[in-house]
Amino acid sequence: MTKIRAFGANSPEEQLKPLLITRREIGSTDVEIAIQFCGVCHSDLHTVRDEWGGTIYPSVPGHEIVGIVTHVGKEVKKFNVNDQVGVGCLVDSCRTCESCKDGLEQYCEKGAIQTYNAHEKQLDQQTFGGYSERIVVDQDFVLSIPKNLDLAATAPLLCAGITTYSPLRHWKVGKGTKVGVVGIGGLGHMGVKIAKAMGAHVVVITTSPSKVEDAKRLGADEIILSSDKAQMKKNANSLDFILDCVSAQHDINVYLRLLKRDGSLTLVGAPDKPLPVSPFSLIPGRKSFAGSMIGGIQETQEMLDFCGKHNIVSDIELIDMQTINEAYDRLLKGDVKYRFVIDMSTLA
Ligand code: NAP
Ligand code: ZN
Ligand code: ZN
Repeated sequence: MTKIRAFGANSPEEQLKPLLITRREIGSTDVEIAIQFCGVCHSDLHTVRDEWGGTIYPSVPGHEIVGIVTHVGKEVKKFNVNDQVGVGCLVDSCRTCESCKDGLEQYCEKGAIQTYNAHEKQLDQQTFGGYSERIVVDQDFVLSIPKNLDLAATAPLLCAGITTYSPLRHWKVGKGTKVGVVGIGGLGHMGVKIAKAMGAHVVVITTSPSKVEDAKRLGADEIILSSDKAQMKKNANSLDFILDCVSAQHDINVYLRLLKRDGSLTLVGAPDKPLPVSPFSLIPGRKSFAGSMIGGIQETQEMLDFCGKHNIVSDIELIDMQTINEAYDRLLKGDVKYRFVIDMSTLA
């Protein structure tokens, strides 16, 4: 057991501050990673403030982790010291259930072990995330980072990238598909870039007038300001697929109206309260309302390789660890273009 420096919170009301946490010694199949950058996902904020319930304190979030391998266990075949690697939202799963066998560890029937706020059996404690100096992870849950990508801007691919890539693949988005992306934050802006690279016609639907110009730069073919009722009406029945990346309460029925017959809306955004759906938003038009959670390890590697090939990274604002509480306040206001990434060398 080693004590290492981290940043986290002791209760929902408290700000994040420096903490010492315990990491396990590396086992035979483990990889130890010195964390260089960690993205700030809205799920970190939901968890630290216990908005979904069930947060274990102290809570050290962070699941968009990139860094350099510092040690490997004696049976590790996949990685060497000094490799540039990543860790996303998962650090283990049962590996035997149907979902795990299908490479969909995120849906592990026994409950996947999330990078933070789960139970780490080796030390009988909660898992601690990437707002920390180092992490020890089994080699099967470590990802390779394409060498051509900027490391800091790659961190958000580990959650925002895979969470948008996976449903776009599952719902077969590509050439000839008209896709709407709702909510242009960390997830949404990656959804726009990835859907565009897959060949889709991409329509951004935003509440923020300040994002209209930017959306074109991100790759959007069309932009709808959702507060403009005339624009929303004009675009009714026009989209094959909608990826909803919104973090707060919103009227889902307004967006379902934009779908064509047989279209589907997949939620990846996870507000803490129910989103009421009128039956008449789905029945006329045979529409589907679905959800999707991150992606499995194999698909995460596929996404990283896809981003390497298409030169896709996140638009980031690099921050110091000490400014994380201000960053959370700004995240809640939608004041980030489009992902905060912590430079972990600033961890005091
Ligand atoms: P984020 O950067 O804060 O982006 C959220 C965006 O939602 C905002 O930029 C804003 O976009 C839009 N929005 C905010 N309030 C709104 C409102 N009241 N009505 C309509 N739109 C609103 O958050 P993120 O990190 O991308 O995460 C988004 C959500 O996905 C969070 O709930 C997070 O927990 C969840 N998540 C889920 C998974 C999964 O596996 N399913 C994985 C990661 C994250 P505009 O300014 O463009 O309107
Ligand atoms: Zn996340
Ligand atoms: Zn399983």
